[in-house]
Amino acid sequence: MAAAAHAVVAPRPPHSPLFPLSSSLRPFSSSLSTQPLRLHSLSFSSRRFAAGAVPRRMTVVSAKKKAVAVLKGNSQVEGVVTLTQEQDGPTTVNVRITGLTPGAHGFHLHEFGDTTNGCISTGAHFNPENLTHGAPEDEVRHAGDLGNIIANGDGIAEAIIVDSQIPLGGPNSVVGRALVVHELQDDLGKGGHELSLTTGNAGGRLACGVVGLTPVQ
Ligand SMILES: [Zn+2]
Repeated sequence: MAAAAHAVVAPRPPHSPLFPLSSSLRPFSSSLSTQPLRLHSLSFSSRRFAAGAVPRRMTVVSAKKKAVAVLKGNSQVEGVVTLTQEQDGPTTVNVRITGLTPGAHGFHLHEFGDTTNGCISTGAHFNPENLTHGAPEDEVRHAGDLGNIIANGDGIAEAIIVDSQIPLGGPNSVVGRALVVHELQDDLGKGGHELSLTTGNAGGRLACGVVGLTPVQ
């Protein structure tokens, strides 16, 4: 089996803590995502109705979200990327892209899910905080900066990326935006090129795909 390239990006606690609900607010463990979760509203309800009334049981189905992007372009490069998110936790991105030249390729979440003009019309890196380009682990980065994926000698890049700035819901949701794999290595803002702080000088857009919701199961 070909060696897989794994780029594991640390979650960013200031923006989206790994466990946003403190254990004190969670009446039951919810480690199994497929189990229905009793959210903390249950405990509030129980308190409210504790004096005589029958507690109203509120069972909320797990707020796991899943999305997929099918990447295609004007070359033989193509791939499938799935994104999953548990409640308000980080998003896990599973990448498999083929047809690449061996080595590093910039991999970003772009602003628009518009491919009317191919990958060009997906716009710039998703950047809701209006920051400069950086590495996934940098404090100053675009939300869409997912770094590089590494293609092996067969041109296959596989990676699992965990990132807290690309949620599948809420005001900064990336659903409806696009993932793009680039021709060149992303210099992560440190290359000194005039494009380093906007695109990482990652070159052309080989393939892209719109992120769309898909059934969780
Ligand atoms: Zn960027």
